[in-house]
Formats: sequence, C-alpha cells, structure tokens
Amino acid sequence: MEWCMSMPKVELHAHLNGSIRDSTLLELAKGLGDKGLIDFSQVEHVILKNDRSLSEVFKLFDVIHILTTDHATVTRITKEVVEDFASENVVYVELRTTPKKNEAKGMSKHSYIEAVLEVSATNDKCNEDTRKKIFVRLLLSIDRRETTEAATETVMLALEMRHFGVVGIDLSGNPAVGEWVTYFPALKFAREQGLYVTLHCGEVPNSREIHDMLDFLPGRIGHACFFQEEHWRKLKSSKIPVELCLTSNIRTLSVPSIDAHHFVDLYKAKHPVVLCTDDSGVFSTSLSNEYKIAASSFGLGRKEMFELSKNAVEFIFADNTVKEDLGNIFSLAAKNLE
Ligand code: 5GP
Repeated sequence: MEWCMSMPKVELHAHLNGSIRDSTLLELAKGLGDKGLIDFSQVEHVILKNDRSLSEVFKLFDVIHILTTDHATVTRITKEVVEDFASENVVYVELRTTPKKNEAKGMSKHSYIEAVLEVSATNDKCNEDTRKKIFVRLLLSIDRRETTEAATETVMLALEMRHFGVVGIDLSGNPAVGEWVTYFPALKFAREQGLYVTLHCGEVPNSREIHDMLDFLPGRIGHACFFQEEHWRKLKSSKIPVELCLTSNIRTLSVPSIDAHHFVDLYKAKHPVVLCTDDSGVFSTSLSNEYKIAASSFGLGRKEMFELSKNAVEFIFADNTVKEDLGNIFSLAAKNLE
C-alpha cells in the first residue's frame, strides 16, 4: 500500500459530493441536528452504513446534498477533497459535480460552481496545506433527472467557466432514470463548443443506450459494467478510454466479484483504461487502495502499476502544457522509484 501511495497518480472519475470525508459529513449532520433541522440519529445511520446497492447510493446522495449545499460548505468540502487526493500523491484530479441551486441560501448554479472553483482554480502550483503539487480541473455533471433545457444550461455554465478550470461535461445520476435522447442535444452542443465529454455508460443493462453512447464517441466513458459482446467489440474498435472504479462496482454489485471484473479483459487487450475512485467517501476507498486492489487481484507488479498510472495522462481533458508537466513528474518519479 505504501508503494501505491508514493507513486504519482491521476484521478479522472471523482464525484465531489461522493468524495467527502465521513468525519465532515457527520459534523455537518450534527450541526443541522442540533438546530433541529434533521434527525441526526437517522442520518448518522445512513452515512455509516457500509454496503449499499446502487439505488441506496442515490438515496444517500439526496441526504448528502441536504448537508452540503451552501457556499461555505461547498468550498470546504472541495478543499478537503483536493487535500485528501494530494496527500496520497494524486498529481492531477478531474473532479466532477452537478451544479445545484439552494434558494434558501442564496445559491444559484453559477455561485455553486464559483464556490467549488474558489479552491480548485488556484491549485495548479501547490496545495496550501499538503505542500504537494496537484493540478485540479472540473467537469460539470448533467444529472439524468434533468430536462434538455437544464442540461443545456449546465453546458452554458461550463462554457462561461472554461477559463477557470472547467474542461468538460459528464453525464451521471441514477441510470434507471431518463433517456439518452434528452441529453444528446446538450452533449452534442458541448462538444461542438470544444468541451470534452465523458459518459456514465452501461451501469445497468440497457443495450440500446450503450450503442447510442458509443456511437457518440465521447472522450471517455465510466464503468462499462453491463456490456455484451457487441458492445465490447464496438468499444475496442473505437479506443474510447474507460474509467474503471473497482470498489464502487463491487460495492454496488454492478459486477459479481473482483475476479469477474472487466478490467482484466480490457487490460489484456491493451484497451485504454484508468483506475478511479468514483466516490471515495461513500465507498471508503482511495486511489492508492484501488491500485492495491488491482495489484493483489490481477497480479500487477510495480512496473505495470506505474505504467497504468502514467498512461492515464494521455486521457486527461486538460491541455498539452499540463500533459507535459505531468510527463515530467512521472519521469522524475520513475527515477526516484527505481
Ligand atoms: P455531486 O455531483 O453532487 O458532486 O456528486 C454526487 C452525484 O454524482 C450524485 O447525486 C449522482 O448524480 C452522481 N454519482 C455519484 N456516483 C455515481 C455513480 O456511481 N453512478 C452514477 N451514474 N452517478 C453517480
């Protein structure tokens, strides 16, 4: 584990509100409980529960959003999430979050993103607290509950914020909800405007949608759990990089066991893949832990892990200057880790 911690790493699939420390969530819940706004004992139980199905995960997010949606808290959780990634030698992170309104707190979707960017936009040099270099970029998530208009509004917001670290758009949210045709116009528009797009794809069996998503040729996809032979063929010929979240997939029973995980097949086929945490808070994991699981479950040695981590630089949505800087960080680390 120590070696996995010390190796530089790239995180490309991390939901902001899924990456909050349990201690912070409990503190926030206690604060609202003391004010009589929530029943703390009920919420404590939900936060500390260990195994959750995918649908229970989405119920938990509804609770988390009640706790976190004001400006100061959004800035605080972003700061802590970046600190936690930096402390385990993540050198580049693409956080993703769904812009939210909270009229009672005077929060608009615009000011929500500003509260996130207050931390992330200033992080290119050195994280203030850990003194470690970490690049932070942001993806704005379209939630599958949204209408075409709301999705387009998210894209417009991303375009407005693109000079402050927003590099693309993600499609996420409960995969049992919504239709591809609803989001397609907004995603197409995003790409036409030069934003990168990543899609949660194949989290539930939905063959038609998987085909439509692969036909769209997104910059990356996340998960790819319920793919059938025809989908694998299409994916492999398209070379779309896949964000793989081992712990998340096991915890939500999206794959039956780690031995059956599609990492093995994609890795052997030399298909571009990147290990990610998804929701490090909700699933009690870290990126170092994901590498450790890959090492112990799939027999990856240090050299293979380092290569896997380094190759992820190719799939980031930031510009070539950042890629070059990251290349240098990995070259230096390769010498030091020899
Ligand atoms: P936020 O966007 O509020 O920062 O992060 C939490 C949100 O990310 C959830 O409400 C949900 O929309 C999305 N999310 C987090 N984890 C997953 C996941 O495993 N699958 C999907 N489809 N969406 C997720």
